[in-house]
Amino acid sequence: MLLINLNGRLVPEEKALISVFDHGLLYGDGVFEGIRAYNGRVFKLDQHIRRLYRSAKTILLVIPLTQKEMSQAVVETLKANHLKDAYIRVVVTRGKGDLGLDPRKCPKPTYFIIASRIQLYPKEFYEKGMEIITVPTRRNGVEMLNPAVKSLNYLNNIMAKIEGNNAGAAEALMLNEEGLVLECTGENIFAVSGKKLVTPPLYLGVLEGVTRDVVMELSSQAGLVPFEELLTRHDLFNADEVFLTGTAAEIVPVTKIDGRVIGTGRPGPYTRKLMSLFRKLTEREGTPID
Ligand code: PMP
Repeated sequence: MLLINLNGRLVPEEKALISVFDHGLLYGDGVFEGIRAYNGRVFKLDQHIRRLYRSAKTILLVIPLTQKEMSQAVVETLKANHLKDAYIRVVVTRGKGDLGLDPRKCPKPTYFIIASRIQLYPKEFYEKGMEIITVPTRRNGVEMLNPAVKSLNYLNNIMAKIEGNNAGAAEALMLNEEGLVLECTGENIFAVSGKKLVTPPLYLGVLEGVTRDVVMELSSQAGLVPFEELLTRHDLFNADEVFLTGTAAEIVPVTKIDGRVIGTGRPGPYTRKLMSLFRKLTEREGTPID
């Protein structure tokens, strides 16, 4: 039985109940994080908590805990569930209000922490690569709902995911209104060309992925030079290697995009090197649970 931290109390899953008047549910008014624990350590906990608070600040949501208290709450939830390898979801909503939009009617934010497990993609994708497809739904514009904010309003991504599903692809590639490559529905994207490792710049409107940052840091050890540059679909089609990064997905090779085979059609040497460096890092780094 899973124990959920709901507003600071550990309660069994069946008792972790939220009002139907919660604006997180009624309007997607809230923020969240997805975090991983590996081998008894929480990976990049501070970075995830920091991003949660930055997202909350932008939507004028005051989280009723300090960042340190929230980090401790994550660790305690893992401990209570005796989990050493886990996927953790931290959610903070505007809280219970009335049926109107006005957040001033929501005096107290709701927060909860779920510590569970995740297996996003089958093992085969990591060994053979995955196929992705560009979808018609464009990523939210920066001045609409900035993708830098990891808000509970994920309908933009869900629409894209459905379009990807309908086309039989495991992930959907999202562009901006000009047709520039941004990211996938739940992962950042990278292209390797020669010794260049390229990912779209944050100002275009992509989530500042924690895994994205880690991969940029690891790139020199893999013999690559990282760049934040504009990418078109043409650039991706003609890259030597393409891969996606995310907390749940980790690093997953992409071997086909919109029917075009990428590189040799197999996960490339740089991608495999980065996957191995990433794995090693997750084994030795992180906030200890005990
Ligand atoms: N982009 C989007 C839209 C996401 O939802 C995620 C997952 N949080 C990512 C990128 C990857 O970010 P991270 O590496 O921090 O999980």
